[in-house]
Amino acid sequence: MADFDVIVLGSGPGGYVTAIRSSQLGFKTAIIEKESLGGVCLNWGCIPTKALLKSAQVFEYLKHAEEYGLKAENIDKDFDGVVKRSRKVADDMSKGVQFLMKKNKIEVLKGYGTLKAGKKVAVKGEDGKETEYTAKHIIIATGARSRELPSLKQDGKKIIGYREAMTLEKQPKKMIVVGSGAIGIEFAYFYNSMGTEVTVVEYLPNIVPVEDEDISKQLERSFKKAGVKIMTASEVTKVDTSGDGVKATVKTSKGEEVLEADIVLSAVGIKSNIENIGLEDLGIKTDKDKIVVDDFYQTNVPGYYAIGDVTPGQALAHVASAEGILCVEKIADMHVEPLDYGNIPGCTYCMPEVASVGLTEKQAKDKGLDIKIGKFPFSASGKAKASGTPDGFVKVIFDAKYGEWLGCHMIGAGVTDMIAEAVVARKLETTGHEILKAVHPHPTMSEAVMEAVAAAYDEVIHL
Ligand SMILES: Cc1cc2nc3c(=O)[nH]c(=O)nc-3n(C[C@H](O)[C@H](O)[C@H](O)COP(=O)(O)OP(=O)(O)OC[C@H]3O[C@@H](n4cnc5c(N)ncnc54)[C@H](O)[C@@H]3O)c2cc1C
Repeated sequence: MADFDVIVLGSGPGGYVTAIRSSQLGFKTAIIEKESLGGVCLNWGCIPTKALLKSAQVFEYLKHAEEYGLKAENIDKDFDGVVKRSRKVADDMSKGVQFLMKKNKIEVLKGYGTLKAGKKVAVKGEDGKETEYTAKHIIIATGARSRELPSLKQDGKKIIGYREAMTLEKQPKKMIVVGSGAIGIEFAYFYNSMGTEVTVVEYLPNIVPVEDEDISKQLERSFKKAGVKIMTASEVTKVDTSGDGVKATVKTSKGEEVLEADIVLSAVGIKSNIENIGLEDLGIKTDKDKIVVDDFYQTNVPGYYAIGDVTPGQALAHVASAEGILCVEKIADMHVEPLDYGNIPGCTYCMPEVASVGLTEKQAKDKGLDIKIGKFPFSASGKAKASGTPDGFVKVIFDAKYGEWLGCHMIGAGVTDMIAEAVVARKLETTGHEILKAVHPHPTMSEAVMEAVAAAYDEVIHL
């Protein structure tokens, strides 16, 4: 008899959600965690960054109070207070997962887990004692950490990763952010709003390089307007940390430039936690830093599965959770469909926010599709004007022949909440005309989606 039906290794949004669904399905479930429940997402990722960004946003509103007919004098920030608030939000969320584990009767095994043959996991507790547990199914959800480049070795002080960036004791005066994916851009926005002089260095020609080019250009304009220095098609080749601050050598199309700053934040992606967990001993296959899995997250070794950031899908919390649910539902022999990785929304929570799903214009064109594009600027939206947030637009891409909604790209206030409409509509294979006939509430930012769709079909009203 196995100790458990399901053991989940790692308690991020992949692991803990998997454990809850597993327990709901009647499996005796355990979860192993070496740090805090909730993984990167709750403790070091999605949630604490959003708390920091909220403080930045409130600070921006206060700085611009006069634009709203209000007076706010002696506005200042308390950097330490902002960091403390973020840590408290993260701690509260982790406690919430603790509660959910208890509520769902999931056994929490604290310690470092190593996979063993015969569907076993050894857990080494803080006291150094190792205990072995057996399960019918073992799900690996060990997540990822900040990726290090050879030219940007993190020392945690002058060259830092995301963990240090959200817990700095002192606000830097000048910061270089290397990498302009969601993580780099969110920190760039946060520190710039707080008053740090920020330079973003991006290797590719556009910031937020996975986004539609129009979105990247608009965000670049907004960031530049807010005072962030942007260097695209540029590479940090060397960082000298020997002096008081840092001197970063940046290779650009025009030659080399040396930037001085207090600190460099390396935000160049993630590295999966696939080492020292027993994969090699078991013969579990990996490829390009990820565990190889089938459509339902089974590895090449029966009884061992993997989900979340350790697998090849988009490294996002909602992807990790969705994969875990599918994995365990398949184990329970439910009829499930593989996840549609083409319909995963991606969001960046700077101001203006960025949100998208589906194909970019370039991807649609590269596929040789005949497309219709509609765009609606928030400057023509009553709600955006009233809110004082007229920056940005909604861009939609439809297949000209079949009316399929191929892609939706948004930049503006609150768009990270609005993108769900496009995700659901695409899941239900809704056509553009059906969106037009679905009455949107007035005045809302969401009307811009309806209007952008109308623009694609030459029926736009407010332009
Ligand atoms: C700064 C930042 C901001 C982000 N913002 C967003 C966002 O806004 N939206 C979004 O969707 N995604 C965001 N992400 C990405 C998101 O955090 C990850 O995609 C998500 O956490 C992955 O979940 P996971 O369950 O696969 O792994 P993780 O969250 O990494 O959790 C893995 C867990 O496993 C534990 N573990 C690892 N090895 C062992 C072991 N051997 N024994 C025991 N325990 C172990 C770890 O301690 C960790 O708790 C952000 C990431 C960062 C870094």
